[in-house]
Order: sequence, then structure tokens, then C-alpha cells
Amino acid sequence: MYDYAIVGSGVAGCTLAKELSGKKIVIEKGEKPKYVGEGKNVLVNYVVGLGGSAVFSVGNAIKLKIKGYKIEKDIYDEIFEELNIKEADNTFLNDIDKEFLNFGFKKTPKFIDFEKCNKCGKCASKICNAKWTPLNFLKQSDADIITNFNIIKIEKEKEYFIIYCKNKKIKAKNIVLSAGAINSARILKSLYDYEEIGKNLFVDTFITVGGILKDSYLNEDVPMLVYKDYDDFILATHYSSLLYKEIKKEHKDIRSKDIVGLMIKIKDEMEGKVLKNNIKKEISKEDLKLLVRGISKATKYINKLGVEEIYSTIPRGSHPSGTLSFIKDFMFEDIYVCDSSLFKEPLGKPPVVSIIALAKKLSRELS
Ligand SMILES: Cc1cc2nc3c(=O)[nH]c(=O)nc-3n(C[C@H](O)[C@H](O)[C@H](O)COP(=O)(O)OP(=O)(O)OC[C@H]3O[C@@H](n4cnc5c(N)ncnc54)[C@H](O)[C@@H]3O)c2cc1C
Repeated sequence: MYDYAIVGSGVAGCTLAKELSGKKIVIEKGEKPKYVGEGKNVLVNYVVGLGGSAVFSVGNAIKLKIKGYKIEKDIYDEIFEELNIKEADNTFLNDIDKEFLNFGFKKTPKFIDFEKCNKCGKCASKICNAKWTPLNFLKQSDADIITNFNIIKIEKEKEYFIIYCKNKKIKAKNIVLSAGAINSARILKSLYDYEEIGKNLFVDTFITVGGILKDSYLNEDVPMLVYKDYDDFILATHYSSLLYKEIKKEHKDIRSKDIVGLMIKIKDEMEGKVLKNNIKKEISKEDLKLLVRGISKATKYINKLGVEEIYSTIPRGSHPSGTLSFIKDFMFEDIYVCDSSLFKEPLGKPPVVSIIALAKKLSRELS
């Protein structure tokens, strides 16, 4: 019998696996990390597998105010130390980054060891030893781990839960759902018929705009190494292979080293919804206004570099959040929840530091 069954091995799940006291098991649906895309109007990407989405993060580490949760200062101190969060030295920046610094951009704090980073530009598709991932925390934890465990049913006995997959069952006194905002909502919905579950989805919708700038080599840079914060949206340097493909349709001989781009990431409205097998996420009127403002600012900077024609990607989102924002104090009925589903207001900025902070706070409260 376990004290805690932690469902999901992503940012929150791995932090809990490391910090909760008692006998623990991490139950992971996947194994080798694989991208999943859901949604038609805004394509929402996340990762299923050991470590969850942050195995392919680009290392952005921003401290944010988390509405509804008071996070003690020493929790953030711990996170910044454990993840070795730093900005890059000027010697690490390439010429494009420096141009953007001249335009008033700032260096992005990162959980990347720049001395180990070989600037392959593949943070979003490769795991390497320069970047912190949740797997680092999993290695430091004494939790049992079970992968390829597809939950088909959860039953409550008097003193404990039984979690079933096709040919196994696990008993635990407590369950913590950390399957990410989309899948924690689905699991909770399968247990309770409560209307609010799965509503209020936001994803920090983003697009990348850019064009051709010969030998700019942004494809060999750490993504989003410099950024500018406009509060409701940010701009950050971003080489996007989607943008490259879009430009290549008209410029057959163009090479990836010749593409320059800026990501516009907005605080989108919490109007999406998680359904049983899909999600509904559109661009609201307010979202559109922010995207247009962002595109206009980004275009101005890119034009200053000498780029004339501007191209754009489709809208995407890689920070699904908010779907269990009605929950107070980490608990609904008798199930704990701890992941990005808990955020009560749109962030528009990287959430990993905040998710770790929530998981550390819950671990302290339960210890
Ligand atoms: C390409 C990319 C780059 C990103 N870069 C950054 C960045 O630089 N900085 C930043 O702050 N954020 C970044 N993010 C966002 C960040 O990774 C996520 O917001 C964060 O990982 C969410 O944490 P979580 O614990 O809520 O869920 P996740 O980390 O996604 O973990 C959920 C886990 O649950 C598992 N799971 C799902 N369903 C089930 C089930 N039914 N049973 C058991 N297990 C299940 C999944 O396999 C996964 O392991 C990025 C995201 C992407 C996709």
C-alpha cells in the first residue's frame, strides 16, 4: 500500500516524487516522450511520456505571481538554486540576440547550463545534459515508477484508492493528479460529474512571425534567449521550422540558417474547454487584439533588421493550464490535484517555475 499515488511524471509529478514524504509511486501513462497535438483553431501541443512536456522545454524560467497561492520566498530560492537558473553571458549570445538587446530586449533567465550547451537549437526536440528537466528530480526521488500505465478505473474503498489499468492495480491512501491541465481534467471528470471540470482552459497562445535574413543563424541559437515583456504579451527570438516551411513555399532555395523570427506569446482568455477526446480552443476578440498588437511590434523590430517580407505560423499553445482553477487548497472531494490546471488567471509567460513552486508548497503542507 502506497501513501501517495502520483499520476503523471511531468514538472509537478516529478517535484512531488522528490519532495513528498512517505511511500510513493509515480504512475505514468507513457514512457518515451512523444508530442500530442489537440485542437483545431489553436493547435495545443504537450508531451506524454516520462518527464512530460518540460523534457522539450526551451529552459525559460520566469518567477510569476500565482493568484490564490502564497508561495514562500525560500521556495523560490530553492528552485533557483536547484535548477541553476541564470541568464546567458554576452559571449554566449549571437549577433541577432545582441541586435535585439539594442532594441530594449532582455536576456531570459534559463535553467540551462550555458557552459554545457552546444547551441544545437534543438531544445524542443532533444533531451541533453545542459538543460534541467523533470527527469533530474525523478532521479533524486525514492518513488517507485510505473510507465505505460493507462488508468481505466479508480475505485474508493474506505481508507484507500484502487487504481486499475488493464492488467494491474495499485493501492494508495492518497491520489495526487499531476497529469497536466488537459489530462488531469479528463481523469477528474471521469470520477465526478461536476460542470466546472475542464473549463477555463488557457494555453498562452503564440505565433511566430519573421522572414529571410541571410546567415542570421537563429536556427543554431537557444530559442527565446532574449525577450521583451509588454505585460499582456511577450516577444522573444524564435526560430520556427513551421515558419521555415511557410517561407520555403515561395523561396525554394532558402536555408534554415537564413530565417529570423519573433514569437508573440499572449495572455489568452480562459475560454477553452477540455472535452473527453478533444479540446475546444479558439482565438477570442481580446486574444486577436493582443496578437495584432504583438505582430505590429514584432514586425517593426524585424523590419529594422532589414527583413522586408513578413510571414507567420498558425496559432499554437504549449502551456495548457487553468482547467481545474476552481479548486482551492489543492483538493477536490478527496483527490489532490497539483499541476498547471490549478492556475486561476492567464499567465502569458513560462509556467515551469510556478508549477514547481506549487508542488513544493503542497509537499510541505502534506509533510
Ligand atoms: C515545446 C515546449 C516547450 C516549453 N518550454 C517551456 C519553457 O521554456 N519554460 C516553461 O516554463 N514552460 C515551458 N513549456 C511548458 C511546460 O513544459 C508545461 O507548462 C509543463 O510541463 C506543465 O507541467 P505539468 O506538471 O502541469 O504537466 P506535464 O509536465 O505535461 O506532465 C503531465 C504528465 O502526465 C502524464 N499523463 C498524462 N495523462 C496521464 C494519465 N491519464 N495517466 C498517467 N499519466 C498521464 C504525461 O505523460 C506527463 O508525464 C514548454 C512546453 C512545450 C510543449
